[in-house]
Amino acid sequence: MKNVNLVVGLKFRNAAQFRVALRDWCIRHWVDIEFLRNEAARVTAKCKVEGCECRIHTSPIQGGSIFQIKTIKGKHTFVKTYENRLANASYLAKRIENAIRDNPTIPVQQLKNRILSICNVDVSRFMVMRAKKEALERIRGDDRKQYKLLWDYCETVRNCNPGSKRILKKPENSDPLIFDRMYFSLHALKKRFMEGCRPIIGLDGCFLKTVYGGQLLVAMGRDENNNMFPITMVVTQVENKDTWDWFVSELLDEIGGMGTTKYSFISDTHKGLLRP
Ligand SMILES: [Zn+2]
Repeated sequence: MKNVNLVVGLKFRNAAQFRVALRDWCIRHWVDIEFLRNEAARVTAKCKVEGCECRIHTSPIQGGSIFQIKTIKGKHTFVKTYENRLANASYLAKRIENAIRDNPTIPVQQLKNRILSICNVDVSRFMVMRAKKEALERIRGDDRKQYKLLWDYCETVRNCNPGSKRILKKPENSDPLIFDRMYFSLHALKKRFMEGCRPIIGLDGCFLKTVYGGQLLVAMGRDENNNMFPITMVVTQVENKDTWDWFVSELLDEIGGMGTTKYSFISDTHKGLLRP
């Protein structure tokens, strides 16, 4: 919830959502506030500037959980300041999370400038570092959860896309949920490749830019219009002879490479693809 304009009648899921919107609005408009009431049944806040009577009041609609802004009183005495105690590390972490997700090594000074640009607050480098640390923890936490969800995801694919091939492997003698490599192809892609594409397979790979790294290996075909056609992919910790061998043998096993159709492979001599 970003850049919400607070007006009388605006509704929120609950008091917590209103508090988030209020904090965001106050930071963007150089307003510091204090809560006169901050309860489940009502939230009233006023401007902290001495002599300013600006205040906002919200309460639930007919005793339900939906909160609504009932009144906004007074005219704010405008004091432009680039300091606001409401802009704490947690708030800033959410605002810069996408920038850090795109570039986890983004310099602190760049984040500081970005915060000034989008939040109208000039915070200390120490505060930026705290926000960056919190954002990174949030992002890495997400990655951990997503890797654990792979087992459920493959099971769902098995149930919903019969004929699809997915292999999820863990390192030998390890915890059951530690990820090592995954082979993944959808039945519809395999069928379309075998029925309508040329018997040419391009193999390529690239680094995955997450905190855990890894490699994405892919097999691509060419359809009758000479466009690229995805066949299957592998996510693995490293790219070497073992992973390429495993990938190609699983692929050939799936598309019947040892049968009547002979496939030609194209690659740019990836590490492990060529035997020494
Ligand atoms: Zn005010």
